[in-house]
Amino acid sequence: MKQQQQHPTPRRFDVLAIFTSTSLVAALGVPWHGITHGYHPGLWVLLGLMLAWNGLSITAGYHRLWSHKAYSAHLLPRLIFALGGALAVQNSIRNWCADHRNHHRHTDDPDLDPYSSRRGLWYSHMGWMLRDYPATTKDYSNITDLDRDPVVVWQHKHYATLALSLNLLLPLALGWLFNDPMGGLLLLGFFRLVIGHHTTFLINSLAHAWGSQPYSDQTSSRDNPLIALLTYGEGYHNFHHTFQWDYRNGVRWYHFDPTKWLIKALSWCQLAHHLKQVAPEKIEQSRAKMQLAYASARVRQSRPSNKEQWLNLLEAEYEQLVHSLNAWALCRQRKLELKTAKLKQRWDETELHHQLQELESNLNRQRRHWRLLTQQFA
Ligand SMILES: [Zn+2]
Ligand SMILES: [Zn+2]
Repeated sequence: MKQQQQHPTPRRFDVLAIFTSTSLVAALGVPWHGITHGYHPGLWVLLGLMLAWNGLSITAGYHRLWSHKAYSAHLLPRLIFALGGALAVQNSIRNWCADHRNHHRHTDDPDLDPYSSRRGLWYSHMGWMLRDYPATTKDYSNITDLDRDPVVVWQHKHYATLALSLNLLLPLALGWLFNDPMGGLLLLGFFRLVIGHHTTFLINSLAHAWGSQPYSDQTSSRDNPLIALLTYGEGYHNFHHTFQWDYRNGVRWYHFDPTKWLIKALSWCQLAHHLKQVAPEKIEQSRAKMQLAYASARVRQSRPSNKEQWLNLLEAEYEQLVHSLNAWALCRQRKLELKTAKLKQRWDETELHHQLQELESNLNRQRRHWRLLTQQFA
């Protein structure tokens, strides 16, 4: 009775059974078969490929394409992602995206965010799926746009058949190619599924608890390069929550974000279009605003005697940096307009050209100044 009062929401025994059985087989059956029979090297190669298909279908497909519309994609990658999503056993695109859009709309709200980090690491990692919590009740009103995609509708209708075939029949068939159907089922079916589950779940749990907040502290989301290594680039979660429709999560070129690279590669093959990117000045301004907040907090802690002076200096430098950024962005926009109007020659001759160069060198000077100033309080 007491237990019931603490947890009035009904348990999801079906989900519990899937997680428990797959975890047990992966933890016990996979090493047992390895010791008694060994695994063919070809199966290890297939494991890597299937892990990537499983993971990237969620990150590039379910997440950046369907949930956020960060780009549009040709039928072929949409089909591959829809199949890969069923392989990943993370529910249909419709269910996944309905939850995910609510996660962004109500981030951290303990009642409305389906995997709110405020309810603890366990809840945001897996606990939210083990009971029928109201936040995960589906009314689909936030994904009506997705119902216009026949791939989404088809995958939702045949989800159970697809998930079972891809997780049982396909691994058995691939194992059979190496005369080891059981090895295929264990390694490519169960082991791949459990690894795929927990790496994706890390984005909802650890990426809301461990890491830095360079762009915003409005939500618990964090940037964490280590989590990005395990999640095909999704560990840059603070950037993602701040600029959710950008097709990149790791915004710098050196950030490990294979999902971003895949989408870019698809666009080179004409299989992805309209890749959305936030304007660089907006990203830089968000970073500077957070640096101002961190530096001001440090000043308040460490320089009580002349803190007003320092705070005013920081505020003035920040305002100047933002002013220069905006002037530079306006000028650059004008340059792009002239270029798209095929007025390259006019651009070269115009005064605007020199103006942009001057604004750029001024901005770089201000950036250096800002960096030196904020570094004192890092
Ligand atoms: Zn998202
Ligand atoms: Zn999140």
